[in-house]
Amino acid sequence: MDINKGEEIIVLKASRYSESSLMVRAYSKNLGLITINARGASRKNSKIAKFFNEFTVSKLDLKKSKNYYYVQDGEVINSNFSLSKNPRAVVLASFFAEIILRSIYDEEENEFIFHLLEKSIEAVNYNFSKLIFLSFSIKFLAVSGFKKDFSCKICGERKDLYYSLVENLFYCEKDKDKARNVKLYKINNLELKVINTILHRKISQAKNYEKYLKEEEIRYLNSIFLKILLVEFELNTLNSINWLKKYEFIL
Ligand SMILES: [Zn+2]
Repeated sequence: MDINKGEEIIVLKASRYSESSLMVRAYSKNLGLITINARGASRKNSKIAKFFNEFTVSKLDLKKSKNYYYVQDGEVINSNFSLSKNPRAVVLASFFAEIILRSIYDEEENEFIFHLLEKSIEAVNYNFSKLIFLSFSIKFLAVSGFKKDFSCKICGERKDLYYSLVENLFYCEKDKDKARNVKLYKINNLELKVINTILHRKISQAKNYEKYLKEEEIRYLNSIFLKILLVEFELNTLNSINWLKKYEFIL
């Protein structure tokens, strides 16, 4: 039986499976999205419980048997414990976890997603900004193969665009009448500049771009990108949406 030694994982969700076990959904560096059957993890004095708090990053020796991975040994790299004390940080990190759980197939390796998640949780913890929502969404689309081309579908113009949700396309001011649906979301030039810049900067730097936008604009852009994520991944809704609204990440 194969043992994956020192596999880095980030816990997305842990649920009670039996009296003493947890069923853990985690994103791993080399295996992608996996399910770990953490036997004994909810027992008192469990030696493995510390690996399975939400958003904890660990290095584990994992053995696969049928559909599940089982823990042989390991060490915690970062418990991200301080996150749990900050409700708005938890809301944002839970959104990252939910979108990954809902949009990615099991065991498709994508190291970029692992790093994005790790860095995003770190940024939420130490460089909090509502722009992290936007930064994560743009980067997540890019690393999942849905990189957005912010240009007019008709003429290629890159300034002052209108997003057509139904078509999942952008139009410029001059061509916007050619869009098939009535509801268009305008993204002005400054907003496009911020979007293009944060796509290419580290997520921990998202905070630096807050000063270019009004609070309301950040929420507006976050809301548009939430719509884009739902369209691209064919999702009707997310449980996180109510919390994102409550904590004013979106409109
Ligand atoms: Zn155009």
